[in-house]
Amino acid sequence: MTIQWFPGHMTRARRQIQEKLKQIDAVIELLDARVPHSSRNPMIDEILRGKPRLVLLNKADLADQRATDRWIAAFREDGLDSLAVDAAGGQGIKEISARVKKLVAPQWERMAARGVVKPRAVRVLIVGIPNVGKSTLINRLAGRSVAATGDRPGVTKGQQWIKVGGEMELLDTPGILWPKFDDQTVGMRLAVIGSIREEILNLEEIAFFAVKTLAGKYWDAFVERFGLEGGPPEDPDDPRQIVDVLERIGRKRGCLVSGGRVDLEKASGVLLRDLRSGKLGRITLEEPEEFR
Ligand code: GDP
Repeated sequence: MTIQWFPGHMTRARRQIQEKLKQIDAVIELLDARVPHSSRNPMIDEILRGKPRLVLLNKADLADQRATDRWIAAFREDGLDSLAVDAAGGQGIKEISARVKKLVAPQWERMAARGVVKPRAVRVLIVGIPNVGKSTLINRLAGRSVAATGDRPGVTKGQQWIKVGGEMELLDTPGILWPKFDDQTVGMRLAVIGSIREEILNLEEIAFFAVKTLAGKYWDAFVERFGLEGGPPEDPDDPRQIVDVLERIGRKRGCLVSGGRVDLEKASGVLLRDLRSGKLGRITLEEPEEFR
């Protein structure tokens, strides 16, 4: 599922997107609503070269609604229109076409006044990092299964335009972008949501990070899901208190090894599975205020 990115891949991915930009009017930049910063390509502004852009916060069904609202406000402050969607469930999808049309309207009206363009569907390209939901969104918009799988830069196939209602046309092959690698927090957050290879980071390390960063803010969800007794870690910088939460989860779930000790790896797996599937509740790992 996840790509190992090398400089050559990045160059190729970038070139492929820029080649496609010539044929399109607007871009849909797909982000994960749980990590809108960490799921963003670090060079996106440069790559898109001022193309009109709609930011979609996908998997909004898994994210904390209040945090999503703040992200949308923050994007607006940056001059970017954005919308929360759930490509898998269909929420917010109907609104996309109207938003995209609005994006290109000023430019098209100017051109129409000069007789340069006739009214036609807006041509759109979806871009985003792996696993953010590009294929799901394309299939959802198309109303059938059309999106190319082979989710690797450099894997091309004959691309097609997909009609979405009367007003939008979509390229069936999305632009695949790489995430930001040189920031450890970004990497950990992507690992928590399951978008980074687990062979690179171990399960316990990811779960440790998840508890450290989320237990304080979402403690009620931890209590509700796992029936934990006692409070959240008083000092998130104390590793023993973080491990203690993992042990409490493990004990509640019967993740034990001989001698009654908690199997931390199993407990980590339980926590991450519940977190990624939304069973722990709607959780956002980063807020816009952190980046202001
Ligand atoms: P791509 O690599 O960007 O094309 O991502 P995919 O479309 O393959 O989606 C990756 C995973 O996320 C799949 O398991 C999808 O079912 C899931 N997914 C995509 N969109 C959503 C969404 O809005 N909500 C939820 N809960 N899951 C989603």
